[in-house]
Amino acid sequence: MPATFTRQFDTPAYKGKVTVNTGLFINATGTLITKISAASAKDVDIAVQAAHNAYKTSWGHKVPAYERGRLMNKLADLMEKHAEELSALEALDAGKQYFFAKAVDISATIQNFRYFAGWADKNHGKTIETSEAKFAYTRHEPIGVCGLIVPWNFPLLVASWKVAPALACGNAIILKPSEMTPLTALKVAELSVEAGFPPGVINVLPGYGSVAGQALTEHPKVGKISFTGSTLVGRKIMETAARTNLKRVTLELGGKSPSIIFDDADLDQAVKWASMGIFMHNGQVCAAGSRIFVQEGIYDAFIKAFATASKSLKLGHGFDPSITQGPCVSQTQMERVLGYIESGKQEGATLLSGGSRLGEEGYFIEPTIFTDVKSDMKIVREEIFGPVAVIAKFKDEAELIEMANDTVYGLASAVYTQNINRAIRVANALETGGVWVNQASLPDFQVPFGGVKQSGYGKEMGEYALESYTVVKAVQVNL
Ligand code: NAD
Repeated sequence: MPATFTRQFDTPAYKGKVTVNTGLFINATGTLITKISAASAKDVDIAVQAAHNAYKTSWGHKVPAYERGRLMNKLADLMEKHAEELSALEALDAGKQYFFAKAVDISATIQNFRYFAGWADKNHGKTIETSEAKFAYTRHEPIGVCGLIVPWNFPLLVASWKVAPALACGNAIILKPSEMTPLTALKVAELSVEAGFPPGVINVLPGYGSVAGQALTEHPKVGKISFTGSTLVGRKIMETAARTNLKRVTLELGGKSPSIIFDDADLDQAVKWASMGIFMHNGQVCAAGSRIFVQEGIYDAFIKAFATASKSLKLGHGFDPSITQGPCVSQTQMERVLGYIESGKQEGATLLSGGSRLGEEGYFIEPTIFTDVKSDMKIVREEIFGPVAVIAKFKDEAELIEMANDTVYGLASAVYTQNINRAIRVANALETGGVWVNQASLPDFQVPFGGVKQSGYGKEMGEYALESYTVVKAVQVNL
């Protein structure tokens, strides 16, 4: 049974009490925090029935669109009021820095809610005059019940990319957070009750992917699954959706994103951004710039400065305000990353810096850089999801495009150059859903985000996200 979990924090970064109605859970440093109950297939069915009833009776077109926006803004206000508590929970649960969680995860979550609250009464259809005596109009209708399945790296932020547009479009939702990091989602579920959402519109079901996630994906009354996670699970979700009721699917999957440094790049800026691009949140970022391509003229200067930057990063507990890096999210994840580092050594890449676990408590790995990598090495081809950069040298644009596109993934890329013509030419040639020029890994709530190739399809954020949560009905009228 769920229990109330309360902890008093007295750390340099955060002082205050955190209360959440859950049980127990284990955090990234190996400490037992709390445990929570995991939803069964039966629980999923109950939640879907509740969401379906709410959608039919007290949400969707049953309430004015501006009222949906009003409730979403109210929830954003409550999240703002509880921002410190939510940041503390995220730091505790996902092992990230408290200040990072506050400045990035929680503040961007609130922005997303406000942004999509504004869209709630603006997502209109069109009128089409087909001839003098006939016309048609389109309605942007909600899908109904949407299942939203999210990973552990940005637990609340990635959830908000789905929850906010789904609600704005009039859908009832079932959010299944990762089994590793359910705490902030549960807190927001509490706040949604306080905000006044009708019962059944917002449901949060913590649980395991193979049980709760699978049951949600199979359920015939779920009209859409929006999934963020690994390509492996994304493939399973698509198969299940196809086998059951052909529900709609949006997939935001893994990546092996290129970070490209041309000779004419501003070296300091390129080092700063490329370092953030791969080492931010310990490399546990879907769009992490994990393959770094450096043009030969700047190569030696870049790798020297990049290695120095990586050594200046400080690992530690998320509540220590002086740290820049937290731990891997779990022992399993740490072991997986260490396995990749070992494979890089075995396959003959040069270990330029890092490469080891730090200490015996918690799951810390040094920021790690490999050079002299070859395109067929595992560390170049597979998503590591940890603080491991691989660096390769290129001669010219043509060679670079070939190397950068030589991957099954296509989530994002970053290009560093002072030549705007080159930046645009290369951006257009890269097979990725998004490109950053002279910056890295900073999604913006107004800008669509999502991959191509095996990084998935569908867009989150920005106006494009509304298409993922509506169906267009065309009504043709003979006057
Ligand atoms: P994961 O695929 O293991 O799990 C993601 C979610 O899916 C979890 O909630 C899990 O419980 C659930 N799940 C697992 N098996 C399931 C099943 N059979 N049916 C339904 N749900 C199931 O991924 P993870 O380890 O939590 O996260 C890391 C992955 O997420 C990386 O590959 C990363 O690139 C990706 N990611 C992508 C984006 C993006 O926007 N493209 C953002 C963040 C993370």
